[in-house]
Amino acid sequence: MSTLITNIAELMTQDLEHRVLKNAAMVVEGERIAWLGAAASAPAADEAVDAGGRAVLPGWVDSHTHLVFAGDRTAEFEARMAGEQYSAGGIAVTVDATRRASDFDLTRLAMARVSEAVSLGTTYLETKTGYGLDTEHEARSARIASTVADEVTYLGAHLVPTGLDADAYTDLVCGPMLDAVRPYVRWADVFCEKGAFTAEQSRRVLRACRDAGLGIRVHGNQLGEGPGVQLATELGAASVDHVNYLASQDVAALADSWTGWDPSTGTGARGTVATCLPACDLSTRQPLPPARALLDAGVQVALASNCNPGTSYTSSMAFCVATAVLQMRLSVHEAVRAATYGGALALHRETGNDADGERAVGSLAVGHRADVHMLNAPSATHLAYRPGMPLTYAVWRAGVRAR
Ligand SMILES: [Zn+2]
Repeated sequence: MSTLITNIAELMTQDLEHRVLKNAAMVVEGERIAWLGAAASAPAADEAVDAGGRAVLPGWVDSHTHLVFAGDRTAEFEARMAGEQYSAGGIAVTVDATRRASDFDLTRLAMARVSEAVSLGTTYLETKTGYGLDTEHEARSARIASTVADEVTYLGAHLVPTGLDADAYTDLVCGPMLDAVRPYVRWADVFCEKGAFTAEQSRRVLRACRDAGLGIRVHGNQLGEGPGVQLATELGAASVDHVNYLASQDVAALADSWTGWDPSTGTGARGTVATCLPACDLSTRQPLPPARALLDAGVQVALASNCNPGTSYTSSMAFCVATAVLQMRLSVHEAVRAATYGGALALHRETGNDADGERAVGSLAVGHRADVHMLNAPSATHLAYRPGMPLTYAVWRAGVRAR
């Protein structure tokens, strides 16, 4: 079964050549993109969809979410908006509610959040554990996450549960808890921040998880300058997320991590992606990360929603893109790239075609996964020009119409 999508006013591919085609068309065949180019030279297909002069871009790749949780933190949000300072401790409220919820309810809640994200144009999504914080409940969260998300990250090192010794808890995270989640996860993450895990504890967690065959990522430099970025680059993490407070040596370390990589071919030794989470920063009244300076320094940047109940209860990648353009001084093309190709890079899913087991996501090219986002607008510029508007018109996820 093949579908020709034609009469596309603007096709923003986010491919390696950064092509933006006008008056374009594409053919989706099964789960893959079979062809794209000028509408006038499009091949025939089994069925045709008239885009009616709308814009098409890759589906969003949301590389950082926390969707497996129960409970509500509205009161904490209200207190914060009334002037209370944000600290890392509110997670405990969600942990209590999550542990009490049934498997059925946790799964239902996580599925509903994924379908909300898909309805907003997200076609590839990572989610994390981290609201279980004991072996039984972290394993349960990982298992449930693996049934609803494309990528699952083990975040046993989210916070030290109240009353436990930090080093003893770190031992648990590196030992029995890791063994229990291992069948369900591809990644491990640690919250390396004052009030969460120290550099030494974080290093132990990341090393143990890396030795167990997991890819690694870091929550770092969110609430102040700290060791997160240096640790991430030192250990070869795929991504360091938040990056609000960066010293010049942090920017340099991130830029250096990409010097062996050729962005025009996407080959060579990859570095550590800097993942910006602007919706979280707005919701905690933190300064936005220096994404403009990071791009100018040669760092690969991703945008993600950080959808979670405490600090960023939105999965709207369009909101993140609009914020990146309006407040972080990225161009529309740069912001969309960070929210598509950048997220794929942060998840090591940016390559792969017909010859590989996994198809690339986050960019539109022949052989890549047909993750397609059509806007009810003639260009992607409208994402920032008309912030907050319901611009998602149609979505294909792995070639299947999802909206
Ligand atoms: Zn997070």
